[in-house]
Amino acid sequence: MMQLQADAAVLGAGLAGSLIAKALADQGWDVVLIDRQTFPRHKVCGEFLSPEAQSTLAAFGLLDAVMELAPVAVNQSRLVFAGGQEIALKLPGEAWGISRYRLDERLHQAAADSGVRLMTGTSVVSVHCDREGYYIEAKQNGQPLMLRAKAAIAAWGGNARAGLPGSPHTGEAKRKLRRPLGKEIAYVGVKSHFSGVELGDKVEMYFFRGGYMGLCPVGEGRVNAAALLDRRAFDGAGRPLLSFMEEAALRQPALAQRLAGAIPIEGTQSAVAPVRLRKSPGAWDGLPLLGDSASVIAPLCGDGMSMALRSAALCAPLADGYLRGNLSLPEWSRLYAERLQAEFAGPLRWGSLLQGMLSCAAAGPLLHGMFRLAPRLAERLVKASRLAPYGG
Ligand SMILES: Cc1cc2nc3c(=O)[nH]c(=O)nc-3n(C[C@H](O)[C@H](O)[C@H](O)COP(=O)(O)OP(=O)(O)OC[C@H]3O[C@@H](n4cnc5c(N)ncnc54)[C@H](O)[C@@H]3O)c2cc1C
Repeated sequence: MMQLQADAAVLGAGLAGSLIAKALADQGWDVVLIDRQTFPRHKVCGEFLSPEAQSTLAAFGLLDAVMELAPVAVNQSRLVFAGGQEIALKLPGEAWGISRYRLDERLHQAAADSGVRLMTGTSVVSVHCDREGYYIEAKQNGQPLMLRAKAAIAAWGGNARAGLPGSPHTGEAKRKLRRPLGKEIAYVGVKSHFSGVELGDKVEMYFFRGGYMGLCPVGEGRVNAAALLDRRAFDGAGRPLLSFMEEAALRQPALAQRLAGAIPIEGTQSAVAPVRLRKSPGAWDGLPLLGDSASVIAPLCGDGMSMALRSAALCAPLADGYLRGNLSLPEWSRLYAERLQAEFAGPLRWGSLLQGMLSCAAAGPLLHGMFRLAPRLAERLVKASRLAPYGG
């Protein structure tokens, strides 16, 4: 069996994992970053990168690397409610439209440049902890692999229950992941790039019975379409992914009109299920939880990537302190939970409220009237569901 050793093992190489791996390597630690997928890959995401996310990237010296990908400036939004009413809003700050295919790959490159050992196509199947540190059991091309590390950090995303063949979770998180959905709504997320749609510097959000779809320009003449759909309203496992989008368009005439000339780009489709939204963050479960493992904000807020990056930014100095022997594991756990709670609790609460309000078809006319009369109110709601700028 292949056996490896490192100071830190980061489990999941999405945005949160890549950022913390780079940050720790920059402090001189030997870091292994593991992901079950191979990259680049298309990922279900609206690909709308908020200004707050940009501020975190800047703090870690990654802004220039991301700007080289030529993200599209996004300054305006258009919201179309289920009943057809629509409003236009100026966004508070310039956001970017950027493909996750390119963004994640660029962060991997930055992490590797800092000395991180990236292992893709490698699935974590279990994590154990003793006085010496962590044992991570993984599989690469069907072959078992054992990694020993003083610190382990979970950045394996929000739907680990669906994705994990084994059981790397311990304690409370394991129970949560096994818990039946109960009253929680099980969403499915789908995405595809399209050509033949002109959005300029606008992001558009269309609401319809059972979900919503966001359109965001991502450059190279492409628009990304990502939808969050209530499984109860969009039945039919095994159907072609694009048929979900066609059905959404049948439920929202303005979306049908917008997508009339759209041509799906082959190989850019992906889906994820179940998507479980969270109202409060969960920071720790035997090891620190980052990004979507800690909190899943309603996608319509457009701040999930920002939260993933921020959780890594909050956790990195504490992980460094632990590795240096300046913090115990319980101290790291307590401080990280406090910092996450302080920054994430508000946006998650407001995000959940917005998700409830905007997804309710009957609320459309009321919201439309309210936002038209008081556009500043809409702006405030958007801001309340977002993190503060990094260090601000
Ligand atoms: C429909 C939809 C639209 C969205 N739109 C936006 C948007 O416009 N803007 C925005 O900011 N956010 C958006 N989000 C949210 C955003 O995509 C996530 O918040 C963000 O990707 C979280 O990053 P992460 O690093 O925590 O997790 P991820 O990016 O999911 O990375 C987790 C990684 O862990 C790996 N992994 C999982 N299990 C294992 C295992 N057992 N072993 C090894 N590796 C493993 C996975 O392969 C994956 O690469 C949207 C989400 C959805 C569902």
